[in-house]
Amino acid sequence: MRTTRTVPARPLLISALAVTTVGSLLLTPHTAAAEPKPPVTREGPAVEKGAARAPRSAAERALSGTTGPAAGTGTGTGTGTGTGTGRGYPREQVLAPDPHNPADKSIKLGLTPYHAIAPKLNAIQRLGDRVSVEVAGRSAGGHRLYLVTVTAPESTRQARAQERMRELIENAPAAAARSRELRAGYKTPVFFNNNIHGNEWEGTDASLKLIERLATAKDRRTRDLLSHSRLYFNITANPDGRIAGTRANANGFDMNRDFVTASQPEVRAMRQIEIDKQPAVMLDVHGYVNGTLIEPTTPPHGENYEYDLFLKNTYANALRMESAVNGLGYTPAKDGVRPAQIPFRDQEEGWDDWPPIFTPQYAAFHGTVAAHTVEIPLTVNNAAYDSLPESELRRRSAINVDVAGAALTATLDFVRTNRASLVADQIEVFRRGAAGEPQVPVSAETVPGVPGIGPEDVYTTDFPRAYVVPGGSPAAARLVDHLLANDVRVTRAAHTFRLGGRSYPKGSYVVDMRQPKRGLANVLLADGRDISDRVSVMYDISGWSLGRLWGAEVTQVTSGSLRGLPLRSVGRAARVGHVAPRGDLRLRLEDPREIAALNSLLQRGVEVRRSADGSAIVPASARAKAAAAARTYDVVFDATRVTGTTELRRPRVAAAVTPGELFALREMNFEVTPVSTAVLNAGFDWSAADVLFVSAGLNRDALNPAARSALDAFLAAGHGLVGRGVTGAGLATAAGLLAARPVEGNTDANGVVRVVNSGPVTAGAPDHGFVYAPVWFTDLGPEVRVEQTYGRGNPLVSGHWRALEDGSGGPAQAAGQASVVSSSGAVLFGTEPLFRDHPKGEFAQVARALFTVAHASGGTGEESG
Ligand SMILES: [Zn+2]
Repeated sequence: MRTTRTVPARPLLISALAVTTVGSLLLTPHTAAAEPKPPVTREGPAVEKGAARAPRSAAERALSGTTGPAAGTGTGTGTGTGTGTGRGYPREQVLAPDPHNPADKSIKLGLTPYHAIAPKLNAIQRLGDRVSVEVAGRSAGGHRLYLVTVTAPESTRQARAQERMRELIENAPAAAARSRELRAGYKTPVFFNNNIHGNEWEGTDASLKLIERLATAKDRRTRDLLSHSRLYFNITANPDGRIAGTRANANGFDMNRDFVTASQPEVRAMRQIEIDKQPAVMLDVHGYVNGTLIEPTTPPHGENYEYDLFLKNTYANALRMESAVNGLGYTPAKDGVRPAQIPFRDQEEGWDDWPPIFTPQYAAFHGTVAAHTVEIPLTVNNAAYDSLPESELRRRSAINVDVAGAALTATLDFVRTNRASLVADQIEVFRRGAAGEPQVPVSAETVPGVPGIGPEDVYTTDFPRAYVVPGGSPAAARLVDHLLANDVRVTRAAHTFRLGGRSYPKGSYVVDMRQPKRGLANVLLADGRDISDRVSVMYDISGWSLGRLWGAEVTQVTSGSLRGLPLRSVGRAARVGHVAPRGDLRLRLEDPREIAALNSLLQRGVEVRRSADGSAIVPASARAKAAAAARTYDVVFDATRVTGTTELRRPRVAAAVTPGELFALREMNFEVTPVSTAVLNAGFDWSAADVLFVSAGLNRDALNPAARSALDAFLAAGHGLVGRGVTGAGLATAAGLLAARPVEGNTDANGVVRVVNSGPVTAGAPDHGFVYAPVWFTDLGPEVRVEQTYGRGNPLVSGHWRALEDGSGGPAQAAGQASVVSSSGAVLFGTEPLFRDHPKGEFAQVARALFTVAHASGGTGEESG
């Protein structure tokens, strides 16, 4: 839990709030009116601060992280992706049991442990013909993700008709808007996503209760609801975390930050549900904020949404949920439960919908027009879990289940009474995209029924005409596959062509921005915007860009006609993997796939040398192994006459890093052993490591004397150090590996920055980088090489980076300063080249740093015993 700031209600809206809460019969008027507004609360840390402890995991699989719906499925019993079309409902299946686990953290709370979910779903399916269970994927830790559909039975023919209508909405929205069949017969899709943060449990339990009731309810409203909608429940989006009582999954990832990158299998499963089911309405149930927080959010609002349609529906359903939650009758005095809050109405800033890394924000780009994070009220996780009596925890959890249930039920009522306009608004989202129409700025006139809209709420963008990505590189192939996995349409040029006054080669990819999901295409590819002057505080990241950070060349085309161009739709990127037929081979080391291929060759005993330009030289004798690597990693081995100089070895990396960094290192096929202050204090065998990478969780001052001298001896023996941020830099200076003073900028700042690359470690890297709590280096010793500097002027391209109150720490101070430095024994990063596994184009800098300092230290293997 983290409090960002106390923010007052919008002055105009206090009366509106009072009216709403007075309208709730079971709540005394003075309670709501007199209750001081609690601060907006940010649950959990914005950045992973701790050291990663994740076991070796699915990182290798994630290399092909853009796999389709079947990712993670297909093992064990009860497989099937839940995305099948052309099958009727119910789609019942008997789930094989999960192993009983008495250590499941749900048990203490009186909630449903993971192993009890499958039997419960089996029993509910037997109650009638409304409930279907499918497996939507598997978690990082290998647990099945249960997708439940509740709807009135459908024949195969009826289900196919539903699918046809769904496709019509997306692909021919103008026709869908006129379709009488659709208006009369389309079942509104609704998606309830639960427990994405594993230690925010109760959405799962509330959903199970609701499903059980819906399975047999005979009342007219339920029958009406189920014959006109399909309700989809992701029972727990994070089984690993539910069992372990952690926010993250088994890989240590906060999945409600991963939707841009989709590095985690659970996130890819949710993404596929969004694409295949196309929900008009969704809830993402979280905890814990008292009183219950209900989206819509404070500014800034993402500039790529059709926000007028989103706000209209999301606000309307928020009022319904607020009324239902307050209507439960819990009070601050009696139960410790405060009235619900709607941040859009009740707060000024601090809980925004700017980045599409959050589930409801991502859903909006797939046509969800009412999407909510709901934060249920009473804390039962973290310190409370360990310190409160079981009876108190169970009291709180029972109330939380009640509150989550009220939000779910209110949403069903909202869907039942507004289904025509909800579907019409979803159609309108896709229609505007396909037609290339401008967005509609929000105002009192364009979004009637939502009070207090002001200029601070208006965020729109000018969509370009197209994006062009020249093909032929691993980075371009990865980017295109990622766009396709997100249901963005991509075409490929059969010949050279001209567009917007420029020529592009045959094989270039073109993203026509006149497409139904243009918002998603743009939010992924665009630079984003510098919003530092528009709000004072952000909830999480403010900048990202696959166009700038993923290593592929991406050109924005603002004008021109695509008519007559030789473009064909693609279902996947063309493979680029290739090996020259004779002679020695050169592998570039600028992309994570190339690093992974190199490490795999080294692992297989191939003698690889490094050339002067930083590439890897593979001898002709290893052509067959190179061919296998080219196939596996889709990389290019060119012919070369360069013989190379120094021999490359696969370094064994001891790493005190964040989970995102650990995952990225393993994605590049490094052999990594996670370490931390605690691991070193317990006695670490340094002979198992060649190089140390430190960014988090290792504090030299907190080491016991034996651990400290072992670490110092490792570094003094010439083993290299790669450091990131002040933690890494502090260790490098303490060990005397490099003379530099790290300067920490505003620790809340983050975004995409311009950089100038100037050294061997950064050769071939993009001229943009990602920063979070940016660091730069001054007072450089004579032996220190500047590998990269922040751009001059204002280096921030997109994101949020202000100077501190004393004027220091801002982008103007960082401009022109060293962002990456090196010496013979160390490389220090002030940027975040592996942040949450996102900026793929920057990964190779870290790999090159590891190879460089590991080699400089005398190489590897000699110490291994
Ligand atoms: Zn949460």
